[in-house]
Amino acid sequence: MKTTTLIAAVSMLLPVVQAAVPAHFSDRAKEILADSVPVQPAEYPLNIVYFLGNDNEPVADYERRLSEIMHFVQQFYAKEMTRNGFPNRSFGMQMLENGNVKFHLVRGKRSHREYAYGTGHNACLEEIREYAAAHANSICSEHILVIMPTFHDAEYNDLQPGGVPFYGLGRNCFALDYAHFDLRHLGQNTHEGRLLTKWLGGLAHELGHGLNLPHNEGTVTDMAAMGTPLMGAGNYTLGMKPTYLTPNSARLLDCCQVFAPAGDKTEFYAPCPRPEVQQAALQYTGKELVLTVRCNNTTYVNALVQAPPYAVNQDYEAVAFCATPEGEADAAGFRTHRIAMPLSELTARQNTGKGEQGIDVLFAQPNGLRYRWRTTYDSATLKPGDEIPLSKPESMWQGY
Ligand code: ZN
Repeated sequence: MKTTTLIAAVSMLLPVVQAAVPAHFSDRAKEILADSVPVQPAEYPLNIVYFLGNDNEPVADYERRLSEIMHFVQQFYAKEMTRNGFPNRSFGMQMLENGNVKFHLVRGKRSHREYAYGTGHNACLEEIREYAAAHANSICSEHILVIMPTFHDAEYNDLQPGGVPFYGLGRNCFALDYAHFDLRHLGQNTHEGRLLTKWLGGLAHELGHGLNLPHNEGTVTDMAAMGTPLMGAGNYTLGMKPTYLTPNSARLLDCCQVFAPAGDKTEFYAPCPRPEVQQAALQYTGKELVLTVRCNNTTYVNALVQAPPYAVNQDYEAVAFCATPEGEADAAGFRTHRIAMPLSELTARQNTGKGEQGIDVLFAQPNGLRYRWRTTYDSATLKPGDEIPLSKPESMWQGY
C-alpha cells in the first residue's frame, strides 16, 4: 500500500486533527504544548470575543498570548475528556491560518468603566449580539467566552488585575486579560506564576460554567488520585497542582454544543420533552446510598450529594456520582439508571452524620438541556435498610 493511501486510510479511521503547535508560539508554550493530543474538529465552535470599551486598547501581544492559553485550556479539557472515556473531545475553537485562535475584537459603545464586574455584562452581551447581527456567520454557536482587559486604577493593574466581569452566566462566560497573562509563567512560584494560575484556572473554571457545568467536588478516591476538580476549587490549582474533570463534568460536556464533533447536526438547546420519571427509589444500606431512577428523554443521570445551603456558590463541595444504565431502553424510551454512593466517598463536610443532607439528581438530555431534581432528608436518623422518600418528580427544574 502506498504511503499516501495508508495515511488516507488511517485518517478515515481517526477523524481527528493533530493540534500542531504554531511556529510563532513562544518556546515555553511549545514546550508545554509538546504533549498535545489530537482534538476532534467541532461542528459548532466556541466563540471567543475580546471586548473593549470605546476608550481602551487590547493588552499588548494578546493574540499570541491568549492563543497559547486557549490551546492549553483546550488541551486540558481534551486530555480529561479522553481519560473519562470521550477520546479527543474538547470544545472547538475558530482558528486562523497562522494557528492563532480567532478572537472577535468587539468595541463597545461606552467607556470601558461601564462594563464593570457585577452588571457590566448586560451592555456587553447586548453589543455582542449587535456585532453578531452585523457580521453574518461570525458567531458559530450559542456559547461565548468574553475576555476584557483589566482595569487600571487605584485598585487594579497588571500585577493585580480585576474590575471587569469574571463569572459564568448561562452559556456565556467572562475572563480577563493583563500584561503578564502568559504561559511562560506557568507553574512558577513567583507573583506572576501564582497570578497566572489564579486567572488561567479562573478562565478554565468560568468557561466550564459557560459550557453547562455546575460546581462539583470529587469522590475521596478520585481526589486522592487526581487532585482537585476544575469545577470545585480547581480554579486555584490548574497549572500549579494536579487538577481534573469529574465524570459528572465529562458527561455534561459530552452533551454540550461546542463539544459536538463535525457532522453532528443535533439541534442543541431546542425545546424538547422533559425527563419523565416512571419509578425511583433511594435506599440507605448502612454503607451506601443507592438511587435507582427509571426515566426517558435522558442520556445521563448523575447525582450530587451536599449539605445545605444549596445556593449558588455554596455548592463547591457537592460530591458528584454517575449512574450506570441497566438494560436497554424500552419502546417508550424508558431505562433504569442506578447510582451507588458509598458514604466513604463523601468528605467530612458532607458526611457529617447529623442534620439535613440533599441529593440532587441531574438529568442530561441529548440536546444539552439539563434538569435538576432535589430531595432532602435527615441523615442523623437514617438506619440501615431505610427507604428515603423522594420529592415529587414534578418539582425538577431546568438549568444547572
Ligand atoms: Zn464557579
